[in-house]
Amino acid sequence: MSLLVVGSIALDTVETPTGRADEALGGSAVYFSLAASYFTDVMMVGAVGHDFPPEHKDLLESRGIDTSGLVHLDGKTFRWTGRYAENMNDRETLDVQLNVFDGFRPDIPEAFRGAKHVFLANASPEIQMHVLEQIESPEFVASDTMNIYIENELDALKRLMPRVHCFVLNDEEAVMLTGERSIVSAARAILDMGPATTIIKKGAHGSVMASQEDVFLLPAYPLAREIDPTGAGDSFAGAFCGTVAKSGAEFAGLRRAMAYATVTASFCVEGFSVDGFRELRRADIDERYEDFMRMTHVERVIG
Ligand code: AMP
Repeated sequence: MSLLVVGSIALDTVETPTGRADEALGGSAVYFSLAASYFTDVMMVGAVGHDFPPEHKDLLESRGIDTSGLVHLDGKTFRWTGRYAENMNDRETLDVQLNVFDGFRPDIPEAFRGAKHVFLANASPEIQMHVLEQIESPEFVASDTMNIYIENELDALKRLMPRVHCFVLNDEEAVMLTGERSIVSAARAILDMGPATTIIKKGAHGSVMASQEDVFLLPAYPLAREIDPTGAGDSFAGAFCGTVAKSGAEFAGLRRAMAYATVTASFCVEGFSVDGFRELRRADIDERYEDFMRMTHVERVIG
């Protein structure tokens, strides 16, 4: 089953306590697609400018990602600049240049409109809705959001949420959206806004998935050395949706998808930009998955 993602394609400048990268490949759709490509076929829609280096597109295509929905517009590629604190979890956005992403209203290619699995990566909820309305009969829709849309476009976000099966966001955004400080209360408040499932990511502190019936928690995969967390959240979503596209969305399947998401995101953090994916093989993900299962397994106590 193939998976459609619509989101940003970026040139990121990132500073972390371990070093920096300048104008390196990034963007929500890029991280998502690379991670998802280990699990299913991926179709990507996004916009780049005349300055987008062709080797970046080659990398995506080398992972089998269908880039025919990538449009080249007259202007510069979206740029984001960020700096991470010593704890590697808190980050500050220093600069955003929307460039060709500004006002980009994606036209989904005819060949992609039959997609059954869709990820609406970070964009204004009005644009996310515009994308969703072009998909003929989606079976599983997941979406992301961010603080600026919670602050400025809350009504549009609340119209989108009931149309989404799985609403993914980070802990700060969850608190902002619901006013609830406890993650479990925030998750419940989000479910009341319409999605069947929500995932709240807590960076290095793991993630929580909740539906009306169940709550499931996982820690992050512990890394000896973190290099650059940029894109970890989008990589998490990519592996999650990729696993769902491949093996279904019943809750037990979603738990497995959470574990693959956690493990795949950890590879992203081990390099700047998309470097963690350049040499990565599916076997490496499976090996770390086994390791993660061992680390988190608890026997039931009887008697
Ligand atoms: P993550 O670390 O998973 O939250 O994803 C970071 C990626 O999101 C970076 O590669 C940025 O280029 C991209 N990004 C940052 N701000 C925005 C925005 N306003 N809209 C879309 N993508 C963004």
